[in-house]
Amino acid sequence: MTTPAHRAHWAGRVRQVDALIVGGGPAGLAASLMLRSAGVHVALIERERSLGGIPRHSRHTGYGLRDLHRVLSGPSYAAHYAALAEQAGVEIHLTTTATDWSAEGHLVTTSPSGRVQWAAKAVLLATGCRERPRSARLVPGDRPAGVLTTGTLQQLADLFHLPIGERAVVVGAEHVSFSAVHTLLTHGVAVAAMVTDQPASQSYTLLRALACGRHRLPLHVDTDVVAILGSERVRGVELEDRRSHARWSVPCDTVVFTGAWVPDYELARTSPVAMSGPHPRVDQWLRTARPGLFAAGNLVHAAEPADVCALGGRQAARSIVQYLTHGEWPERGVELVASDPFMWTHPSQLTSTLERPTRGRLLTRVRHFLGPGVIELVQSDRVLHAVRRPRLVPNRSISIALPASLRVDLTAGPVELRWRQAR
Ligand SMILES: Cc1cc2nc3c(=O)[nH]c(=O)nc-3n(C[C@H](O)[C@H](O)[C@H](O)COP(=O)(O)OP(=O)(O)OC[C@H]3O[C@@H](n4cnc5c(N)ncnc54)[C@H](O)[C@@H]3O)c2cc1C
Repeated sequence: MTTPAHRAHWAGRVRQVDALIVGGGPAGLAASLMLRSAGVHVALIERERSLGGIPRHSRHTGYGLRDLHRVLSGPSYAAHYAALAEQAGVEIHLTTTATDWSAEGHLVTTSPSGRVQWAAKAVLLATGCRERPRSARLVPGDRPAGVLTTGTLQQLADLFHLPIGERAVVVGAEHVSFSAVHTLLTHGVAVAAMVTDQPASQSYTLLRALACGRHRLPLHVDTDVVAILGSERVRGVELEDRRSHARWSVPCDTVVFTGAWVPDYELARTSPVAMSGPHPRVDQWLRTARPGLFAAGNLVHAAEPADVCALGGRQAARSIVQYLTHGEWPERGVELVASDPFMWTHPSQLTSTLERPTRGRLLTRVRHFLGPGVIELVQSDRVLHAVRRPRLVPNRSISIALPASLRVDLTAGPVELRWRQAR
């Protein structure tokens, strides 16, 4: 933990560490633990006052199955990892934000005690992702109070215990949207409606039932929010049916925009490394194009569950240990390219035919409902791998197990992820 003595000592200095992690969420914390267990001197930078990332303020259960092999609430999951990191001797710097890179290529951080440059042998970016706010969705209307994302809703309600409102409309119908519904109902806010531009809900029936309990919520499908009404405080939303173009309004004092994830990619962009859509391009060992720079968690696949991010953090840590030991960085690789309707792939680069992607899985997402059909990995018109799917659901993770026998030609062109609709 940063103490006043530490701060005074480091202010304005170049710090040397073996590994520096930016982001104290599940990916960064899991990576830091594995690095410590390999004897690596690791410092972790977190801009918030406490460790844990998003799970700190996501009060429902559902965290930890694949990494901890038990199910915890978000805050318990965050506290578990934070306690382990402190016990393991990770050098933790809270209220410290990584802002940019120096001319020498050192990561620069700023905190109440000033700026520090970090001359780290390896840097892991684990900065997560955020939901696209109303401004980025270009919804017309004034800017009244009461317009939130799930993240801000849960921070206001569960971290700062502030009143939310009385009647809300939730925009989105994916897993995180039901997390928002759960938070609203738990805090006594009625949910007037859910609205999605897709033709159906994108979440599981069980998750919907757990979130909504005995409340029956109207779900408006194929519907856009075309205006927010109200000047001081939200009075309602105006909705439009995408098929009939009919418009109507729903009175409410709170609007929660959910999902539509944007990775926190600024440090990757300014480093600079190659990007793959909104994510820094990484190979199956979570290496970017810049030697010594790694990326993991929702920064490279926005947004997967916390346990997937933690496992990715561990994978990055193994990769960092390899790099610190041998100093090798792959020179060549082939790009993995997502063709429409796929939005992106993770990993987005393959650098060895012998190593499979993280957990032996390729992650991706689609723009709209599809199915049945076949997902194909194609290189130079050669189908490397094909897997049948009865349907694909937008805003939901698609995970493709890859065979260990997958052989990619590293001297050929990109590998393309394609969809072939069944006839
Ligand atoms: C509402 C909601 C409900 C969810 N429910 C579940 C669930 O039930 N089960 C589940 O498994 N997952 C759930 N998730 C997903 C899960 O929370 C995320 O997948 C996980 O937290 C991502 O981990 P991460 O480490 O990649 O990023 P984050 O948890 O986002 O952590 C990133 C950290 O980096 C810090 N940071 C960013 N930029 C900087 C910078 N420049 N300098 C310093 N620090 C920085 C941030 O402050 C943050 O602490 C939910 C997510 C949301 C939003």
